[in-house]
Amino acid sequence: MRAADQVLPLRPELKDVQPYGAPQLDVPVRLNVNENPYPPSRQVARAISEATFTAAGSLNRYPDRDALGLRTDLAAYLGHGLSTEHVWAANGSNEVMQQVLHAFGGPGRSMLTFGPTYSMYSEYARTTVTHYVDVGRKADFTVDIDAALAAIDQHQPGIVVVASPNNPTGTAVGLQTIQMICDAAPGIVVVDEAYAEFRRAGTPSALSLLADCHHLAVTRTMSKAFALAGARVGYLAASAEFVDALRVVRLPYHLSSVTQAVARVALAYRDEMMSRVDKLRSERDKTTEWLRESGLHVPDSDANFVLFGVFADRHLVWQHLLDRGVLVRETGPDGWLRVSIGTPQEMMVFRDALVDVLQEETADASYGED
Ligand SMILES: *Cc1c(COP(=O)(O)O)cnc(C)c1O
Repeated sequence: MRAADQVLPLRPELKDVQPYGAPQLDVPVRLNVNENPYPPSRQVARAISEATFTAAGSLNRYPDRDALGLRTDLAAYLGHGLSTEHVWAANGSNEVMQQVLHAFGGPGRSMLTFGPTYSMYSEYARTTVTHYVDVGRKADFTVDIDAALAAIDQHQPGIVVVASPNNPTGTAVGLQTIQMICDAAPGIVVVDEAYAEFRRAGTPSALSLLADCHHLAVTRTMSKAFALAGARVGYLAASAEFVDALRVVRLPYHLSSVTQAVARVALAYRDEMMSRVDKLRSERDKTTEWLRESGLHVPDSDANFVLFGVFADRHLVWQHLLDRGVLVRETGPDGWLRVSIGTPQEMMVFRDALVDVLQEETADASYGED
């Protein structure tokens, strides 16, 4: 069989590129894509089916193109004086970000990020023919503000994206740093707060900077804290002008009426969702502590996952965990692995498996020294 690029006029930059995605393996303990381990309760599931039943009655009609009801609910959830015109929603924050790139990126423009970070950013840039610049981070995975300001000065980026808390490191970025980036950036600044609800007490949200910064946007998602990854709902808060720019590039009727209805139900049950977020936050802190006591390095995490290492051969550790039914993610800088926070039972299985694997590694190493 011939490769697609030999028979189809594929864009050269897409040649040999593999589709994005972590392995979706059917193993007992899946801790690899930062999903919420708690499914919607029966009560929420029933409310969702009632709402979708109602929506089904008018599926002959196109959905509300501007998703006004959902955006109003999202604005109320976010607070900070935001209203409907400041909020935008799409199929996952992935789609929101792609719309941002369509509106503010493109040929001749650049997008500046701080790696190691979310691997989709470079994909949005590639798809929209936007030049991708990775400024990097300090050894402790914080953003180096001097390096950031120098790179902004040099590249004059149309878009700066800061993930906070960052994936895969869990690192939150201080508001002063974001403010300085906003002041220096000639284009727009996006703070990706996909994990905002999981941040530790005292870690602020960039939502508080929106009022003073008209070229700033904060993206969020319902995939993580709201346990709604399967529904595909992401959103953004920004100035009304920013939102208007996204309305120009979105596909008409991009967000189905079923999706809009499901998201509104989940928002109505936010208290139930947030009590599970609290459980996950304490399980995260417990996991961090345990990994450190086991002699591993773990950067402070404000998200629902932790990065841990450093392993001489991380792939071997990943494989040996998988052999014990535990799937984590091989991502980030070499030597590190990322584990999403699951239920207390799942984390117990993870800890037992890791103890086993580490003992095996040590045994192998001492054997090798003989
Ligand atoms: C998970 C994640 C998202 C969310 O993506 P959705 O498309 O909303 O599911 C966005 N940004 C980062 C950094 C993430 O890790």
